[in-house]
Amino acid sequence: MIHGVLPMRRFLLAAATFAVATPLQAATLAEAVKADMPSLMTLYRDLHANPELSMQEVRTPAKLAVEMKKLGFSVTEKVGKTGVVAVMKNGAGPTLMIRADMDGLPVVEQTGLPYASKVRAVARSGVETGVMHACGHDTHMTSFIGTARQLAARKAEWSGTLVMILQPGEETGEGAKAMLDDGLYTRFPKPSQVIAFHDAAAAPAGVVAISPGYALANVDSVDISVKGVGGHGAYPHTTKDPIVLASKIVMALQTLVSRENNPLDPAVVTVGSFQAGAKHNIISDEAKLQLTVRSYKPEVRKALLDGIQRIVRGEAIAAGMPNDRMPVVTIREAEFTPATFNTDALSNRALTLFEERFGKQRAVKAPPVMGGEDFSRYYLADKSVESLIFWVGGTPMAKWQAAGGDASKLPSLHSPYWAPEADTVISTATEAMTALSLDILKKG
Ligand SMILES: [Zn+2]
Ligand SMILES: [Zn+2]
Repeated sequence: MIHGVLPMRRFLLAAATFAVATPLQAATLAEAVKADMPSLMTLYRDLHANPELSMQEVRTPAKLAVEMKKLGFSVTEKVGKTGVVAVMKNGAGPTLMIRADMDGLPVVEQTGLPYASKVRAVARSGVETGVMHACGHDTHMTSFIGTARQLAARKAEWSGTLVMILQPGEETGEGAKAMLDDGLYTRFPKPSQVIAFHDAAAAPAGVVAISPGYALANVDSVDISVKGVGGHGAYPHTTKDPIVLASKIVMALQTLVSRENNPLDPAVVTVGSFQAGAKHNIISDEAKLQLTVRSYKPEVRKALLDGIQRIVRGEAIAAGMPNDRMPVVTIREAEFTPATFNTDALSNRALTLFEERFGKQRAVKAPPVMGGEDFSRYYLADKSVESLIFWVGGTPMAKWQAAGGDASKLPSLHSPYWAPEADTVISTATEAMTALSLDILKKG
């Protein structure tokens, strides 16, 4: 969804010179993945050139469902509108769920790549837009297929049930909920572990990073309609100016984080949009604000949302706004994305495994970020499930070094210029995912 910059520069600068050497015990899997890369890159370029908007995924799931059937998975399509669930039962043991998300973004691609997307589509707003895999979900899906191929070929090495899901609508925060509401945990084997990865712009290609505990934030979208009493700009005393009131509200909202929140609990209140008025000499009768509100803990989230209501009403009263012109605060519950929590045991197990496989310079711990991911819902739907989403760095090493490891100088996720070093992301993620899956499903 909305991924912040990973503040990983500190320790990743040290990683900027890591050797590509692979430890001996990992060689077989690494070589098998390498042998599959030409085929995977063909798939990647096709997915990249044909992105689809959230909850409008049609071609993508159909194409990938065919791949999964070929590998011997039992495949169910149209779960949660356009999601795919592929199940492979292979004896007794844990049930592992692997998730990849499928949607692109309403972004006009400007990477100049030979396989750049030229797709246009009509967004839900009714506006026609370019579409691009600007969040790298195409690398997720390609690696998902790569992982499925490795695990299908290695059935003798594991025991248990594999549930591999392709999720729609991550960018709009709808897809995970749609699949769970459509019986993901009741119609199909319920997982004991769920895992996923996301490509990262704020790390060099091939680095694998894990944030144990809270990894991504609660994301709330809030609309505020600040009413006024409009009139002539030359006679302000006959009006109630919503721009002045909304400005006071914007400033007062800053105190929620700076004065009311415990400084040790991360929180963000950003007013991302402020719209009002049409002409120099007219005092309008409404100002509209759009906020993004970020937190980790449920109690912090509640305090921020309650505080917004209180401050907005209080400022309106202070401005002498009549009762029938009080501001209206709308919390967009349907767009809420809950905080993502990586459970401790699984996080530590994966970090140890990745350190052994890739070396300590390529496998690192990362601090959490205030971006959001609806992957969180698979854990929140049943907290007995172990859950982990990890990062796989995508920025080409040469660009990383040229920028001195300062990710803010480089294209971020959602940028029309985001062009990850896809082959490194895909091969690293496929190897990491397969190794972690084999570890979770290893024969007792
Ligand atoms: Zn995104
Ligand atoms: Zn994403």
